[in-house]
Amino acid sequence: MRFKFAILYEDDKKGMVNVAKAVPLFSGSKGNSYYIGSGTQGVLIDAGKNCKQLELALDANGVDIRAVKAVFITHEHSDHCSGLRVFAKKYRLPVFASEGTLYALQNSAKLDPQTPVAVIENEIVFGDMLVERIDTPHDAAESCCYRVTAPDGKSALIATDMGIMTDGVRKAAAKSDFVVLESNHDIEMLKTGPYPYILKKRILSDRGHLSNEACAAELVELVKGGTLRLMLGHLSEQNNTPGIALRTSVCELERAGMKFNNDYTLDIAPAESTKKSVIF
Ligand SMILES: [Zn+2]
Ligand SMILES: [Zn+2]
Repeated sequence: MRFKFAILYEDDKKGMVNVAKAVPLFSGSKGNSYYIGSGTQGVLIDAGKNCKQLELALDANGVDIRAVKAVFITHEHSDHCSGLRVFAKKYRLPVFASEGTLYALQNSAKLDPQTPVAVIENEIVFGDMLVERIDTPHDAAESCCYRVTAPDGKSALIATDMGIMTDGVRKAAAKSDFVVLESNHDIEMLKTGPYPYILKKRILSDRGHLSNEACAAELVELVKGGTLRLMLGHLSEQNNTPGIALRTSVCELERAGMKFNNDYTLDIAPAESTKKSVIF
């Protein structure tokens, strides 16, 4: 079955404050953060930029800071939580994460002792949204990714920082309307690039990061299954370019008979804040 599908950004639906949207504020090794929710309430997934940068990025994307009701952290690496301590304290936001991640955050003073925290085991209903935790294989204490379902039943999954795709993440992606999937590096660029051997080995391991090639193979299956709104996330600045990442996935999908911007939409989650809200 073929779908006609036009990419729809927030500008196309101005004024619809109650429509759920996913806003990739920052993505990549220099910081990660996404807002998912409506104009009146939502959650931040990761806070890997400083408080000021997070405030400016939310504002630039038309998200009132008062709409942010909680922060969900995927893991304790600083590109996911460097702004957490100040941001959560300033806005008195609760922080959710796995037990291992919360422990690691507290141990490294990345959380203010006054900030309320809660362990998310499998899923929680937060405000009018359902947030599900899906574990990821990564070199962190107890990393995970999150799938958020809005009151209208539409859902978004942000899945980055994982060495290999797992059945759990695959299943969560297949039932989501919008998916950000990690497309971290071009394998050849990484192998021939300047990173020290030990770091290359870490990135390529089962607890490292997903390559463009691995990501592309997953996207083919997702589009075949009907998940048509896709975004590439956590691109390496050193071992990838947006052009190469996009081309790898588009070519793989083309080979499987699916046409870019016709059968599916695909974009890049920006490294630095731009206006890129996606209504899913
Ligand atoms: Zn990361
Ligand atoms: Zn990480």
